[in-house]
Amino acid sequence: EKSPVSLLGLGAMGTALARTWLAAGHPLTVWNRTPARTTLLAAHGAEVADSAAEAVAAHALVVVCLLDDASVEEALAGTDLAGRDLVNLTTCTPAQARDRAEWAHERGARYLDGGIMAVPPMIGVPAAGGYVFYSGSRELFDRHQETLAVPAGTVYVGRDAGFAALHDMALLSAMYGMFAGAAHAFALIRKEDIDPVSLAPLLADWLVAMAPAVHRTAERLRTGDYTQGVVSGLAMQVAGTPAFLSTAEEQGVSPELIRPYFELMRRRLAEGGGEEDLTGVIDLLVR
Ligand code: NDP
Repeated sequence: EKSPVSLLGLGAMGTALARTWLAAGHPLTVWNRTPARTTLLAAHGAEVADSAAEAVAAHALVVVCLLDDASVEEALAGTDLAGRDLVNLTTCTPAQARDRAEWAHERGARYLDGGIMAVPPMIGVPAAGGYVFYSGSRELFDRHQETLAVPAGTVYVGRDAGFAALHDMALLSAMYGMFAGAAHAFALIRKEDIDPVSLAPLLADWLVAMAPAVHRTAERLRTGDYTQGVVSGLAMQVAGTPAFLSTAEEQGVSPELIRPYFELMRRRLAEGGGEEDLTGVIDLLVR
């Protein structure tokens, strides 16, 4: 007997989650503000609740996957959460998640926050490697882990309800930095007789080769030693930055994406970090 799930929110993500629970044989009760989105799932065996309150009342495990924190507040107002195990997969900030946990506790519910590291097509496809960060109630997580693992992998990151959102935001922030770098790289060749399709595999392989540098950075942050075994020192790297800016200029490309990072490198060097690698830049960011 598979454990039952109540799911509020049938957007692109909620619908993908719903499908995998139904396919795995979990009894599922769904609610969506716009009822039309429930039709297909009902045909696949989902119970359709007429209200959010009815969906919350249906099963102990209540999963919400709505647009944002405000929509969670709105949808759950007037529902009875006492004794429920509330799992919030709605993207929010760490502070919003902590407040939502408090809010849930005041209403007698256990609370687990989730940050989804996947897009809807990766849901229910283990080989795609998607997973969800969870934080908050360890008891809730342990009790329902098997059910939560049906749509995607589960990674529990701590009792602090804000940690799932924080991990989510940290990884996605790094991703945007990577995309920014790739955007600059493509811009550099844009006006030349170079096929972007021939640059792409070189670029992808290079990024993969450089990615393990984060392990070294983490070690340095842990030990506080930013200089031992440095191969490419900050002084050398800063000396190289004019060539990058001049190349951008020569190619008619704005330096607006790469310049801010170079500025931080220069500041750290000016403050005496010449023997370090790039780790010291992190300390300039933390206010
Ligand atoms: P959609 O825009 O497809 O769906 C939004 C859902 O929220 C709909 O069910 C919508 O209902 C509901 N909603 C919006 N406002 C309210 C409200 N005030 N009251 C009640 N319900 C409301 O978003 P997704 O399904 O793609 O995303 C859901 C969550 O998952 C978001 O927090 C998103 O950041 C996160 N996520 C999404 C990813 C993705 O790639 N799609 C990836 C990782 C995380 P209605 O149908 O009535 O409009």
